[in-house]
Amino acid sequence: MLRRSVMLGAAAALGAPALLRATPAAAQAAAAAPAAPGFFRFRLGEFTVTSLHDGSRLVPLQGLVRNAPLEEVQRTLAEGFQPTDQLRITFTGQLVDTGRALVLLDTGNGPQAAGAPIGRMAGAMQAAGIDPARITHVVISHFHPDHINGLTQADGSAAFPNAEVLVPEAEWRFWTDEGAASRAPAPMQPLFANVTARFRPYQGRIRQGGDGTEAAAGISLLAAPGHTPGHAAVQVASGAETMVYIADTTNRPELNARRPDFHFVFDMDPVVAEATRRRLLDRISAERLRVAGFHFPFPGAGNLAKDGNGYRFSVVDWATGV
Ligand SMILES: [Zn+2]
Repeated sequence: MLRRSVMLGAAAALGAPALLRATPAAAQAAAAAPAAPGFFRFRLGEFTVTSLHDGSRLVPLQGLVRNAPLEEVQRTLAEGFQPTDQLRITFTGQLVDTGRALVLLDTGNGPQAAGAPIGRMAGAMQAAGIDPARITHVVISHFHPDHINGLTQADGSAAFPNAEVLVPEAEWRFWTDEGAASRAPAPMQPLFANVTARFRPYQGRIRQGGDGTEAAAGISLLAAPGHTPGHAAVQVASGAETMVYIADTTNRPELNARRPDFHFVFDMDPVVAEATRRRLLDRISAERLRVAGFHFPFPGAGNLAKDGNGYRFSVVDWATGV
């Protein structure tokens, strides 16, 4: 019930009534059921990164991109071999083992009813042999439910009992400001309440940081505002290798990296979001850095090359996994 009202709140607050049209749950589950718990490991310098799949869900296309006609959105999806009737949004967090710290980047949709197509990260973690109690740090990119709801178990207790949680300070300020909460439209209220509930069991273990703040050695926040006021990317650097976890700087790369000018209804400030997207993706492609995106196809990591006015994504090679 809470989840449903949270999602309704999000979509309604973002002015996307078309997104509220429900896809029958059974159809979604059947369409999205993965073959096995999704995890994948690759090396980044001295670090080992484990990609943890949280599942996927379908959202209506109508109203999804504010500044382009539906046909243009569908044409871009078709070029990227994606369905053109709905958008499949996938969810994949990354866990970085530095040898001294175990750092989780975003937590997924959290506990769901059995058989749900999302909320699978805990199962992926278990399949990968990772005990959540060993995680030393959780870094949260922004406070949308699909990124923070995995902080808690179904009973509301901490899913990561020994972790410090690093959050972008501007994000914390926005979502914990009682003035902002009271001024927000009614449909958005559940998002504020959700933030309170997810962080409640971590009191005394939450650290706020700005651009450059380190979670652990080699892992630092990069300010990336627009999607939400305090949205942050995370730079992961070891030896000569660097990966930028861009979180929701773009949604699916076939759509939003190909067309960085597309303004998704999920971006709270679409103009700032586009400027951030171009700045980050230009740097990632120019410096040939590895990239990971929370809504990129599993395992969510790869590279981005500049291509015309947009960017082309190449997924990490399975054979390079460890
Ligand atoms: Zn997201």
